[in-house]
Amino acid sequence: MQKSIERIAGDSEGVSYEFPVFRFEGFRFDGSDKAAPSAYVQAALHAGELPGVVAIDALMPVLEKAEAEGRIKGNITIVPQANPIGRAQYLYGEHQGRFHLGTRTNFNRGFPLLAAPDVTLLPAHGTVDQRLKSRLMQLSIGHDIVLDLHCDDEGLAYLYVHTSLWPAMADCAMAMGVEAVILWDEDTDGTFEGASITPYLNVPADVARFDRRVATTVEYRGILDVDGALAGSDAEGLYRLLVARGVILDQALPAPGGFTGVVAPLENIDMMPAPRAGAVLYNVKPGDRVAKGALLATIVHAPGEADGRTQVLAPQAGIILTRRSRRIIRAGEDLLKLVGDRKSADARSGTLEN
Ligand SMILES: [Zn+2]
Repeated sequence: MQKSIERIAGDSEGVSYEFPVFRFEGFRFDGSDKAAPSAYVQAALHAGELPGVVAIDALMPVLEKAEAEGRIKGNITIVPQANPIGRAQYLYGEHQGRFHLGTRTNFNRGFPLLAAPDVTLLPAHGTVDQRLKSRLMQLSIGHDIVLDLHCDDEGLAYLYVHTSLWPAMADCAMAMGVEAVILWDEDTDGTFEGASITPYLNVPADVARFDRRVATTVEYRGILDVDGALAGSDAEGLYRLLVARGVILDQALPAPGGFTGVVAPLENIDMMPAPRAGAVLYNVKPGDRVAKGALLATIVHAPGEADGRTQVLAPQAGIILTRRSRRIIRAGEDLLKLVGDRKSADARSGTLEN
């Protein structure tokens, strides 16, 4: 395993950022058609989302053991903390890891959506967050497997997957032990995942290699699910995926079976904007199955007054995927994600909320 340090110059003199990259070299990686697939794993692009960071921390000794035993077949690149800019952003004591304060841009939007998997097409200039994005693309493009580890507010473990990779990626979902998969087909905002799959959508099939390609945003539950036991089980899931896809050799591990969790298109998600501002009393939690008309939440908008509560009901039957971690809400803010059995009447296509 080799460790190197990436440095990104800041937008003002005297400021720069750095992050480590770990590389394992595979013995059957020569870039040929028969070579083992290569993998890239990053976490904390949204810099405060740490379940993936501690999962990587738990995974590294497992990879080092595999390396010592000569079982790593394909190249593996690991970036445990992909966003040193966001990691350093605090505003009045609160960490701000989702948006770059200098440009108000979401760190997981505005990635270049290249026409082909060619890093020479990446823009060389821009603000520091744009240069970080180009650098992460340089590190990841060309890998067969690209995993971007995030988390939600409170939620189940789930994946976003482009429709072109499903159901081919069902083994990955099963290996990782996630509970749901959300399928999407158009990214106009430039998420990292979108930038990882878009270059392969219009190239010849022998370049795209969708039979072995993996690109996904992994939502490792909620922001508070930074926990030793979960980190260990998530690391096991990542390891199972790498073995299932032939990056690591481990004949003791059985092949993952078919995926048995929830699979739904993005358009089935109801986000449930709050009708009033106030304190949220949730009546459901992630994983709950609800019927149409079920009580999802109560907004206490005028405490102590008659008619001071507003109920929010399920517009359709489905599964609760996520809910907010804070209990204060403004009118129009989304209360939760309900994965409906049917297309949402409020479908917001193209928006991966990751
Ligand atoms: Zn995120």
